[in-house]
Amino acid sequence: MKFGGTSMAGTERIRRVAGIVRRQQEAGHEVAVVVSAMAGETDRMVNFCREANALYDPAEYDVVVASGEQVTAGLLAMTLQAMGCKARSWLGWQMPIHTDNAHSRARIESIDTDALLASMAAGEIAVIPGFQGLTDDNRITTLGRGGSDTSAVAVAAGIKADRCDIYTDVDGVYTTDPRIVAKARKLKNVTYEEMLELASVGSKVLQTRSVSLAMKEKVRVQVLSSFIDENAPAADTLPGTMIVSDEELAKLELEGLDMERQLITGIAADKNDAKVILTAVPDRPGAVATIFGPLAAANINVDMIIQNVGREDTDTDVTFTVPAADLDRTKAVLDEHRATIGYQKISTDPKVAKISVVGVGMRSHAGIAATMFKALADRGINIQAISTSEIKVSVLIDSDETELAVRLLHTAYGLDG
Ligand code: ADP
Ligand code: ASP
Ligand code: MG
Repeated sequence: MKFGGTSMAGTERIRRVAGIVRRQQEAGHEVAVVVSAMAGETDRMVNFCREANALYDPAEYDVVVASGEQVTAGLLAMTLQAMGCKARSWLGWQMPIHTDNAHSRARIESIDTDALLASMAAGEIAVIPGFQGLTDDNRITTLGRGGSDTSAVAVAAGIKADRCDIYTDVDGVYTTDPRIVAKARKLKNVTYEEMLELASVGSKVLQTRSVSLAMKEKVRVQVLSSFIDENAPAADTLPGTMIVSDEELAKLELEGLDMERQLITGIAADKNDAKVILTAVPDRPGAVATIFGPLAAANINVDMIIQNVGREDTDTDVTFTVPAADLDRTKAVLDEHRATIGYQKISTDPKVAKISVVGVGMRSHAGIAATMFKALADRGINIQAISTSEIKVSVLIDSDETELAVRLLHTAYGLDG
């Protein structure tokens, strides 16, 4: 069981969480619980780091921000004890959860679970702070923002759990963010690949890495609400959204257990990219390599790319997107390599949004992209770039039109509830 920041924000909510955990134990389960810091705490600590030193050491940043989860883990263990349950906390360094040494965005390498399993078998509820781990040279790491989801999936895989229930402040994964589109509908099932695409293009209900780990380790993941009372249906009846494999989904559909499935499963928006245009780049073999080689070397992730039709076979414009947070560094790299690239001018636009539609139905149906382009054109929304994968179409538009575009597409694909 994993509980997010809103679910852990304050004594009353932690008591509610403890009640949910106790019920699972009473239903006959051995339980490990992964918790987030109280909502807002991690942001608060990140600000302290910035104030202390604008160029802070990521290793010390980890020491600071990992502390939020230590607080909630201890509080939940105490609250469970107050209810008469046996419980203890297991900090990242105590298990330990081994990670690489990429501070502030570390990857889990392995987890020692022997002591944990022995304690659980003895009836003790294990409470584990999410987000944190330990390097080989005994320094504390964190897993990147939203990383408690990944801790939970990793623990579930490590102890071979029957299921990993991710409790949050919404009762499942929706067709789009239910806080933005009131007509969003809850989904019964989402495939790993769909969830992976959705998370990576802006549906931050699960951290992207947690989904790829669940897919790789075949962990059964359910997303459900912690804001429930004692009469709510038990987690074992799967009231939330299940993340399933393609094969499982095909079986469910065959048995008529997922009748509401549409061609498009979900829509996501991401305003964290910026657009870069290089004008009059020489139109010759190797030209784009001179642009994207140095950006890759600087660890800047380029997403959408379009190369316009050449002018009189001499030059062309190249447009691409990078994370807005990397825009200044991108400009610096391009400036530095101006002579080798040979472009005339750089222009940039941070006021863009990427809107994506995702669904495995795309594999077998034509016309998904056409529907998207038409719906946007009918309302005069200009498309600045396009990219696709087997199960996703993304377009880049003016960020002022984000909400309108998501709503339009939600209706156009018949997703409105
Ligand atoms: P937690 O603190 O529990 O980890 P998060 O804030 O990380 O919670 O994730 C839950 C939030 O994700 C919801 O409150 C919702 O606004 C947002 N969200 C974005 N896209 C979706 C979606 N497609 N379905 C459900 N929630 C979504
Ligand atoms: N507390 C961390 C964050 O806010 C990790 C998490 O909540 O998943 O990013
Ligand atoms: Mg989260």
